[in-house]
Amino acid sequence: MTNVSHSQETKATCPYCGVGCGVIIEHDAQQVLGVRGDPDHPANFGRLCTKGSTLHLTAQPMLQQQVRVAQPSLRKTRLSADTPRQPASWDETYAYLADVFAATIREHGPDSVGFYISGQLLTEDYYVFNKLAKGLIGTNNIDTNSRLCMSSAVAGYKQTLGADAPPACYEDLALCETLFIVGSNTAFAHPILFRRIEDARKANPNLKMIVADPRRTDTAQQADLHLAIQPGTDVALFNGMLHILLWEDLVDTAYIESHTEGFAELKRIVRDYTPQFVADTCGISVGDLQKAALWFGQSKASLSLYCQGLNQSSVGTAKNAALINLHLATGQIGKPGAGPFSLTGQPNAMGGREVGGMANLLSAHRDLANPEHRAEVAALWGLPSVPEKPGKTAVEMFDAVEKGEIKILWIACTNPAQSMPNQSLIHAALKKAELVIVQEAYSTTATAQYADVLLPATTWAEKDGTVTNSERRISRVRPAIPAFGDARHDWQIAVEFAHVLEQQLRPGLPTLFPYPNAESIWNEHRESTRGRDLDITGMSYHMLEQQGPQQWPLTTGESSGKARLYEDGVFPTASGKAKFFPAQYQPVAEPADARYPFRLNTGRLRDQWHGMSRTGTVGQLYSHAPEPCIQMAPGDMARRAWKDGDLLQVTSRRGTQILPAQASAELQPGQVFVAMHWGAEFVSGHTGSGQPALGVNSLTLPVFDAYSKQPELKNAAVKLLKAELP
Ligand code: SF4
Repeated sequence: MTNVSHSQETKATCPYCGVGCGVIIEHDAQQVLGVRGDPDHPANFGRLCTKGSTLHLTAQPMLQQQVRVAQPSLRKTRLSADTPRQPASWDETYAYLADVFAATIREHGPDSVGFYISGQLLTEDYYVFNKLAKGLIGTNNIDTNSRLCMSSAVAGYKQTLGADAPPACYEDLALCETLFIVGSNTAFAHPILFRRIEDARKANPNLKMIVADPRRTDTAQQADLHLAIQPGTDVALFNGMLHILLWEDLVDTAYIESHTEGFAELKRIVRDYTPQFVADTCGISVGDLQKAALWFGQSKASLSLYCQGLNQSSVGTAKNAALINLHLATGQIGKPGAGPFSLTGQPNAMGGREVGGMANLLSAHRDLANPEHRAEVAALWGLPSVPEKPGKTAVEMFDAVEKGEIKILWIACTNPAQSMPNQSLIHAALKKAELVIVQEAYSTTATAQYADVLLPATTWAEKDGTVTNSERRISRVRPAIPAFGDARHDWQIAVEFAHVLEQQLRPGLPTLFPYPNAESIWNEHRESTRGRDLDITGMSYHMLEQQGPQQWPLTTGESSGKARLYEDGVFPTASGKAKFFPAQYQPVAEPADARYPFRLNTGRLRDQWHGMSRTGTVGQLYSHAPEPCIQMAPGDMARRAWKDGDLLQVTSRRGTQILPAQASAELQPGQVFVAMHWGAEFVSGHTGSGQPALGVNSLTLPVFDAYSKQPELKNAAVKLLKAELP
């Protein structure tokens, strides 16, 4: 970019959601001066939402002094957890960690170590952490907060289409005739995509938008048809729609015969999903169900957008797959304006999946359970083997820490002490671990308070690497200003620690981590994709500099990537055909009952992000929702003579919270909603107890999907009482 007097401009991406908007950072040599949308970025064409457009405020020097981790610090014994950490040099810290890791691995084996990382990390960061765990240490105990976000979408794609690859692209929003949004408040969670939807509807008044969501969210309020289904009934809805499509002869028999398998079994299953049964199960009218099915089946191009409402479920894989079944049965895939299209929550959940940064994955969409894939990765890394034993996924990992099986836990760029379900167990685990390492930009997270070793990491405007957004588009992330204090890049910390640990675990051998910069890591990752579904051997940092963000796959010799997948009807399965998934409806894991009669849903607000470590530093982002509350149907409040602002004690089988009540016409009777963003401080202030309460996830349950291992964060049974305060 050009120099403008004393200021400069650097192109990067927004670090919040998976839309992956391009930003231009205005800065001088030391500090960020402003931010604006990148008009050339194909995700946003210059637009930014409230979060993106206030990014510069999160990087102000005064604020940084208050909230950032400036230098490494460590406490060498856990016998005295109240002992403050002492500042230390990086060399001293690495040496201490390497000694403890080597001794623990010698005594208890490599599976006594666990890494819990983040979809906020860049692809290069993810790659080296994965290699550190699976390659050097020899454990598959590495998982990520993407497990809470996208793992059901991954499993849904793999079970049906054969690969973890969203087949559609943002351009399809303008090309579809029917847009089916399920389990996604796109207007709040992916605001710039919603602007594109609004544009598409203005340009095409015939575009029909259906929204299936128990809440009448901002997105649902703008729908042509809102299906206010009962929580967790999505599979019944999709199977019921397929039942009607079969009855109306709106399935694409030629497509089914040529490009799919398993339809006969699914047909037998959906026979039982009669319109009346489905309407009763979902709590909608038969007429609305029929209308949705006909709009979907009769349209020339039907596009489905979906997110946590399908993913954060104990049957998340079945929900994803049942929706994909609809697309396969109608041939609504592999053509402009059509396809199932999962929206990514975090900015780089996709990149993490690409490098295999999860307990069950290996580089380039390889599966840990596949011996050939393990051998390929071992050969790429120059190792005799990579471990076969499955690693612990997010919920399992904290269980293993609490049981004493995992003794060292390294947490990078995420805040499980707020975001994981069943918080009392998570906090018990963090107290019990023999060593907790927290690698973070922000000193203010609940998890950082448990750190025996706190490592300062760089963050937005300082980082260098790549991210992949929801439409498989890879963008460069460039540093605009120097690292704060003594902070280092996440990949750099992993590599430098690995070099010291290698001296103990494989002395005298060449390093597995020969990376002087982020690009060298990218180049190794790129090579690992050769011949895979996400082949990016034709993409380089140079190409991204010259041509801007690119979609994968982009193979050697190609000049651009693929906008959409499966246009030839060939799928990456053994037979080349997509597979229908025999999805059956199952109720939520914890239904409401006489003791716990309300159904708790959790989710995002428009102007906050995750645990608010970044957005919580910007005053104007509180104007939309200044404090947490529990929203409930006005009739439910009136029956109990509760008013807005009354403090309610919200209790599940796992914990209790005190929250002010707020009547909301978005909620159906018997349902309540609490935003996920707030943690300990606000709530403890209200109780006056001085004890840190644990946020809404003290109420949620750790039950997870059998395939994806993603926990059911969006439904728990709770009871409500007017709070009796001391
Ligand atoms: Fe950032 Fe997402 Fe907003 Fe774009 S839509 S500016 S990526 S938060």
